[in-house]
Amino acid sequence: MKTLILATDNQDKVHEIREILKDLPIAVLSKAQAGMSYIEVVEDAQTLEGNAEIKARSIKEKAPEAIVLADDTGLYVDALDGAPGVHTARYAGENCSYQDNRRKLLNALKDLPLEERSARFVTCIVIIDEMGILHLAEGVCEGMISEEERGERGFGFDPVFIPKDYDKTFAEMDGQIKNSISHRARALDALLELLERMCK
Ligand code: IMP
Repeated sequence: MKTLILATDNQDKVHEIREILKDLPIAVLSKAQAGMSYIEVVEDAQTLEGNAEIKARSIKEKAPEAIVLADDTGLYVDALDGAPGVHTARYAGENCSYQDNRRKLLNALKDLPLEERSARFVTCIVIIDEMGILHLAEGVCEGMISEEERGERGFGFDPVFIPKDYDKTFAEMDGQIKNSISHRARALDALLELLERMCK
């Protein structure tokens, strides 16, 4: 069986990506499981694609034979002119927690009615195959920022994000539902045929 190395130490992302790819005959290793946690990257590109590529290449350099997958995600809020966007992870500052980020966002949107709280998650996935060829896909999930935190599941901004056509936040939903409609699932879906071919 072939091996896919995820270029991340974020256990929440590892968990979701594993779950979404669970029917593929490929062993999915986190960066730590591949023994590569020591690799540090500076995500200083101005786009999600750029940052995903930086992360994927950092692993590929050390494991030239491997198939590598990197995910970079941003939350784009219309009332904030698209912020936090590419800076989503550090929205409330360096070393901030998920909760610091959510609090800052709810505060920035304070008093705005629900119809003015539209937002979208965008995920960019980069895969570098065994030959060193780079493949890219984007997935988008439209929705709204809720007026308060709701739910305990998921991670990051999940307790404040209500996907379009639903009335629950991602954090109130069963993980299986999130994984069938999320930005990450859509980006991975676009790469599924490629991954299936790589498994052979
Ligand atoms: P990055 O791709 O690691 O730079 O992720 C940026 C930030 O987006 C993370 O720190 C989380 O706060 C947030 N994030 C990424 N994916 C999700 C998701 O699926 N749900 C909620 N928040 C997310």
